[in-house]
Amino acid sequence: MELSVQEYQYLVSEITRETGAKRDGSGKNLIVPRCPFCGKSGGKFGIYIGKATAHRRPFMAHCFSCGASTRTLEQLLAAIGRMDLMVLQTADIAAPLNLHLLEKDEAEEIDDELVLVSNSSSGWSPTQSIYIFSPGIRSTGIDVFEVP
Ligand SMILES: [Zn+2]
Repeated sequence: MELSVQEYQYLVSEITRETGAKRDGSGKNLIVPRCPFCGKSGGKFGIYIGKATAHRRPFMAHCFSCGASTRTLEQLLAAIGRMDLMVLQTADIAAPLNLHLLEKDEAEEIDDELVLVSNSSSGWSPTQSIYIFSPGIRSTGIDVFEVP
């Protein structure tokens, strides 16, 4: 699973808001005031939001009180009751629900791989666009090409 920079930032902001978390000094962890597993307060539940390393992946989480941990984004979202955020992973830019994503300044959020959108048979004609994104590249490296 690869997240675009925008998806990652959106997830971090949503998780932060949902859990009332604060970043730790390094900025690589979200400290959640109340563990979603054991309910203990005191900031024992941490969510790693730094870059992927040999041993860590973004959104791995662990409670130092009850020992509960999640190893994937999906598990974390399930734990905090925000599985709706997983919709990001299956976003289809041709789907009507995602019409708003075709706004040019939001286009970079759409996908993390090469996608060519052609007119669908629904009669609705989106602007044909090609989105190019290489995993690991910075957001400034994302190019959006409009196809006439
Ligand atoms: Zn706990």
